[in-house]
Amino acid sequence: MDLFKVLGSGARFNKKRFTDDISLFEPSNKLRKTNDTSDTQMDIMQEINFFHNSKSAIDETLGVTKDKKITKDVEKDQEGEESINCYNDENEDEDDQAEEEPLVKDLNSMDDVKSFRKRHRIHIYGTDIPNPFSSFDDLESKYNFQPYICKNLKNSAYEKPTPIQMQAIPIMIHGRDLMAMAPTGSGKTLAYIIPMLHDLKGPEKIGYRALIISPTRELAQQIYREFKKMAVGKKFKVCMLTKATAATQAQTPHLREKFDILISTPLRLVHAIQQDIIELKNVRHLILDEADKLLELGFLEQTDEIFAACSNVKLQKALFSATFPSSVETLANDFMKDPIRVVIGLKNAATETIKQKLLYVGQEEGKLIAVRQLIQEGFKPPVLIFVQSIERAKELFHELIYDGINVDVIHSERTKAQRDSIILNLKQGKIWVLIATELMARGMDFKGVNLVINYDFPQSVQSYIHRIGRTGRAGRSGEAVTYYTKDDAPYLKSVVNVMKESGCEVPDWMLQLKNPSRESKKRLRKKPIERKTIDTRSTYDLKKMIRKKYVSNYLLLR
Ligand code: AMP
Repeated sequence: MDLFKVLGSGARFNKKRFTDDISLFEPSNKLRKTNDTSDTQMDIMQEINFFHNSKSAIDETLGVTKDKKITKDVEKDQEGEESINCYNDENEDEDDQAEEEPLVKDLNSMDDVKSFRKRHRIHIYGTDIPNPFSSFDDLESKYNFQPYICKNLKNSAYEKPTPIQMQAIPIMIHGRDLMAMAPTGSGKTLAYIIPMLHDLKGPEKIGYRALIISPTRELAQQIYREFKKMAVGKKFKVCMLTKATAATQAQTPHLREKFDILISTPLRLVHAIQQDIIELKNVRHLILDEADKLLELGFLEQTDEIFAACSNVKLQKALFSATFPSSVETLANDFMKDPIRVVIGLKNAATETIKQKLLYVGQEEGKLIAVRQLIQEGFKPPVLIFVQSIERAKELFHELIYDGINVDVIHSERTKAQRDSIILNLKQGKIWVLIATELMARGMDFKGVNLVINYDFPQSVQSYIHRIGRTGRAGRSGEAVTYYTKDDAPYLKSVVNVMKESGCEVPDWMLQLKNPSRESKKRLRKKPIERKTIDTRSTYDLKKMIRKKYVSNYLLLR
């Protein structure tokens, strides 16, 4: 309705004729206060206390006074699957940020540690939690790290640890199981690579001692590169499991013992385990990167088999992701030993440096018009466009290829060589617009992506957070636009909640929308909305209709 108001006299909206459509955007019957300050912080902490800590442990964890401002809005569905909030300490953080950073050696009282965590929005849950650290210099002076690690950090121009690194590294050094949740692009990879290298000390010839699992091959390669960068100066042998490396190790069994670190996707590793090519009995560190994905149906069986093969009694497990639905947290809690949970900022929230927008495009055809409009107006490459299926990725590619822009498309049907070259070309700026399926949504670190377009509305909040997280990485700014049609309207509120929580402006009417039901969210997660094909003919018809004023020109607005 706001949109129509803005359009003014140019657009008319027949409420009678579009009664059904209007009902889609009706406010929730059970309108909830958006800034519900009446609930106590303790209530919220109890709600998100997955590890069932005592009240005093929660008090200690909070390290905040009870009259603190709390935002307990958003989605709290019965399963808590997409519950977003911990608590909101943004305002306090801003004030604190101005203060000079105390060094960790000065953090000699519980109060210092609490205020340090608060300042960096580090929330911790569990028992006997090691203190965070504040400077990479501490790694050598306080934790006896070998100098090569700090040298490599310096050479990579990493000046100070990010919040997830500040807290996760000491936890991992202490050998504790960890569940770490931090926004996209906030340095999670280094948070496990650094302590792992420290603990492995140097190369040995007893076979794999550390294992990192990633849901996609592309992310595994990225992790491999980061490992190599951080291991310069030590002769660690890192293996990225591929068809070729598996075949080599099958033919020359003595080679297997030379490797220290293994990085793999689940299916590739399960095959290798089943064929006795890989042994994991000496693995002391097991990392699940994008852990919630790896614990979803579809991957869970494989992950389970990998766990079973890691038979070392001293195995340390660490899970990392930007999102953890509660159901996954409960599951993870079952197979971890006295774990510590670290949440940076808000649970399941988007990175705050991303400017998020929702754009109503009417019908399917409106999406192509909106993209073309963006191209005509001029845009800052690179841009990532997400669609819901391989078919649609191909269709959109065939539309945009004639628009005079360097566009490419990536999905699982493209060959590995093609996928590798596309990623390289995107990083080198040779591709301006990359159309992608969910394959690219997680973990990929494209530093310069300026804009993410959700051409097709994401199938879950988690998918939304990960997709838009391809921009705004490592503190940079970025933009994300999500197109929605009438068919997506019932799910709109899930995205609105994320937007609001990450500080984006959202019109009031959107805040008053109904939350989608648990059942409908489940349905959407399983099966995407059926959409009309992306083809020029229908767009052409629409353009004709616009010219003839059958359709208002609101579709052309950005
Ligand atoms: P990740 O979340 O691990 O994908 O990291 C996101 C980006 O942050 C990557 O480009 C890293 O190189 C970068 N990064 C990681 N740690 C730091 C740090 N301490 N300081 C600056 N950038 C970092």
